[in-house]
Amino acid sequence: TPRVRFAPSPTGYLHLGGLRTALYNYLFAKSKGGTFILRIEDTDQTRKVDGAVEALISDLEWSGVHCDEGPGIGGELGPYVQSERLNIYQEHVNKLLDNGSAYRCFCTERRLNILRRDAVKSQRVPKYDNRCRDLTKTEIHEKMKSNAHSCIRFKLTSDCQSFEDLVYGGIAYDVSLNEGDPVIMKSDGFPTYHFANVVDDHLMQVTHVLRGVEWQISTTKHLLLYRAFGWEPPRFGHLPLIVNADGSKLSKRQGDVKVEDYRANGTFPLSLVNYITLSGGGFDHEPGAGLRIKTLEELAAEFQVEKIQSHPSRLNSALLDECNRLELKRQLQDPQLTSDLVKRVQELVTATYPGENLNIAEENVRSILNWATVRVTKIEDLVSPKLGFIWILPESKTIDERHKELLAKVIELLENTHAFDAKSLKAVLKEFSSNNGVKFPELMKMLRSALSGLKEGPGVAEMMDLLGKDKSIQRIKAVMR
Ligand code: GLU
Repeated sequence: TPRVRFAPSPTGYLHLGGLRTALYNYLFAKSKGGTFILRIEDTDQTRKVDGAVEALISDLEWSGVHCDEGPGIGGELGPYVQSERLNIYQEHVNKLLDNGSAYRCFCTERRLNILRRDAVKSQRVPKYDNRCRDLTKTEIHEKMKSNAHSCIRFKLTSDCQSFEDLVYGGIAYDVSLNEGDPVIMKSDGFPTYHFANVVDDHLMQVTHVLRGVEWQISTTKHLLLYRAFGWEPPRFGHLPLIVNADGSKLSKRQGDVKVEDYRANGTFPLSLVNYITLSGGGFDHEPGAGLRIKTLEELAAEFQVEKIQSHPSRLNSALLDECNRLELKRQLQDPQLTSDLVKRVQELVTATYPGENLNIAEENVRSILNWATVRVTKIEDLVSPKLGFIWILPESKTIDERHKELLAKVIELLENTHAFDAKSLKAVLKEFSSNNGVKFPELMKMLRSALSGLKEGPGVAEMMDLLGKDKSIQRIKAVMR
């Protein structure tokens, strides 16, 4: 059974691409009864951001993508935070030094800078010239004795130039032609990403690596490391870039990168998850099937790694709105989820309109939610300027004297109307308008303004239905004062 991992570096927030990687690993594991591991790759201490690990775990929890092993969760093959595994890396660096696949490099920062500068000058890609590969034992001994700074580098060869990517198919890349020997352990005893990543994937018995396509170019380097250790490598699959609908890069400014932002604006976790899978593939296309929100269990049951798309996934925010709408509908079909929603609405409304006399009785909120499924995509929309009238008496406008008489009649009419549902009300109001010589649209405009302070919005009969008889009458009376 597969063991897969999500291995973020705690350098900031969880972004959509990160969630996609976590999600696909999770679905892959769950589709095959496997294990999903969270590993924190914090070996680059300079890029570490305080609180990032906690935020990341909280975003993952929110999304429903739960880990089986990881920091704070446990597991047999931990610790799951790389900075707590330094002795393990040291031990493994020694193995490569011993078998001649790695060597100690004493090149100074100054020398490396000169190499870089010369390369740039002559328009070559800067790369280390592997000079310390050929140091003799005595030279090394001498330098060690003089306490010279050193790091450990890995000898690149041309032995592994290609691999079969689970998503992209055959990939060929001779890393030794393009790069100098990479540092695997810095002088401070911290490993670099490539080394720690390979060592951990092996020790944590990872069978499949699904990660962002930006790492594809590193994979043959990783394969060389596996080979140097004499280890069987996992299978690799890379996930394409996520871009905007127009093909441009996602940006923080638009608020569509951070999972945190989606969370804050009221996106439902399951709709975000479905949205990601809809743009990224991984499923059989059901021809003619309408859009439907699937639970994580359903998604896992249907997931097929070979169906992941290799072209960039384009986001389409209208699709996210549609997913939210469908998710709201889905939740309203489940009693437990509905009662959670009602609670959320009650809290939100109370917080938005403090000190107001609000009708947030469970029954009322329930019927508002049911009405809202075709009108809103998020719970938060229920307190937007457009729909706030549901809860609070809008600022009442004064009304023309000659309309007062008419509205008085409407009040009388409503008081005597017993079927207070949108359909009956509409018929009653239609009849009223023709009996009283007022144009129907004219009457609606007046009533809409009295009921909601809005110039446009939901139908007047619908509004009355939502507000109920007492509130409707109360609001019309208020504009007549
Ligand atoms: N720490 C790497 C990252 O932040 C992990 C890449 C990988 O999955 O191998 O993306």
